Amino acid sequence: MKKSEYLRRVPISKNNICIYRDESKCTNCGACKGICKSRIGVYGHYDMDKAKEPICINCGQCSLVCPNNSIREVEDYKKVRKDIEKGYKIIVQIAPATRFLLGDEFGYSPGKNVIGKLITALHLMGVSYVFDTAFGADLTITEEANEFIERLNNNGLLPMFTSCCPAWVKYVSEFYPEFTDNLSSTKSPIGMMGATIKNYFVPKNNITKYKVVAIVPCTAKKYEITLGDDVDYAITVREVAKWIRESKIDFRKLESSKFDDFTGTSSGIIFGTSGGVMEAMLRYAYHKLTYRSPGKKLLNNEAVRGLSDIKESIIKIGDREISVAVVNGTGDVPKLIEMIKSGEKKYDIVEVMACDGGCIAGGGGSKKYKITNTNKDLRSKAMYKKDKSVKRRNSYENPKIKKLYKELGIKPNSEESKRLLHVSNRKIEKVK
Ligand code: SF4
Ligand code: SF4
Repeated sequence: MKKSEYLRRVPISKNNICIYRDESKCTNCGACKGICKSRIGVYGHYDMDKAKEPICINCGQCSLVCPNNSIREVEDYKKVRKDIEKGYKIIVQIAPATRFLLGDEFGYSPGKNVIGKLITALHLMGVSYVFDTAFGADLTITEEANEFIERLNNNGLLPMFTSCCPAWVKYVSEFYPEFTDNLSSTKSPIGMMGATIKNYFVPKNNITKYKVVAIVPCTAKKYEITLGDDVDYAITVREVAKWIRESKIDFRKLESSKFDDFTGTSSGIIFGTSGGVMEAMLRYAYHKLTYRSPGKKLLNNEAVRGLSDIKESIIKIGDREISVAVVNGTGDVPKLIEMIKSGEKKYDIVEVMACDGGCIAGGGGSKKYKITNTNKDLRSKAMYKKDKSVKRRNSYENPKIKKLYKELGIKPNSEESKRLLHVSNRKIEKVK
């Protein structure tokens, strides 16, 4: 790569399938380079002089901070609209954080949950079914916690790394390939939901011409879905807002609707914030290992919450002590890896989210307000408030998950579930 390509700003390959730069808008301000270097830890992490193509983990944080909208996501919502016109049934799933970000686009204060209005808007725009990706997150927890316990009981490879953030998965594969086997093989929530739709819901309802669409606060999901065939399109919060506006829908005046099927517990909902996956997993693991319900401490696990760079805790489950770490932003991963390699720290399980704050500050989120820590806090507080208010706070309590396993005739983390709900081969293509 020529130095001129990356002196002031992040270089973006023509082959990048998630983001692009509109040169006519760029003022060379350098904000994209700043975030990519300091918080994401990609810019300058490799020999940029020698690289033929820039490395990008598709997190989209550069698009979020670009003051001129020069960097944007590659848009897919128009393809969904075309498919509706062609007669496809569109089956949408909505990622947990989306409901707390979309409101910004329509003038609500940060953290407002607008899920009911979004479901109504999607139906008005021609979508046939709307499901909750939090259901997929419950499935991820079920498989991931069982995988973790299996590793724990059988001297398996530890620490196990969570794998629901595709930008983090790509980061490990690019920069620390020797740690790829530490990644859980479980599919991400959108992969889980897609697999459920295509292998269970669609055949059960004799649907023939359809597409599965995930609405996400993330640009890297556009990359993730190309690695499998569970989801056909991933569209960002900004894209769905554009689609709603172009459809001339007065979002604020909409009534609320409910999901058509497949709802999640609040364990699935807190996936959207840094520490949420860990908290949900520990609740499940506690139940699985002790046959008891998690108590107040695990249901309000302050040790893994918040915006600190690396959060650590020792969780006592029965007579075991589980050592956990939560990394908030891939920029801090080198520190973590160094501590693991040197033996200074020995973790059993590690959660990493590429974006600072997790999906509530995802690169495909709204840009209407500045992404400050205060706003991230408001969004994650809204999630925890929801978590506290619902009846089912643990993934193992989701009755539909139990029904799914029963009807498919499979058990968590079995050979059969691995074929359907795990990634068999982490195919990471460089460059894109
Ligand atoms: S998408 Fe992320 S990794 Fe890629 S250039 Fe932007 S900030 Fe860097
Ligand atoms: S943040 Fe946007 S305007 Fe600034 S250098 Fe990067 S692409 Fe150009």
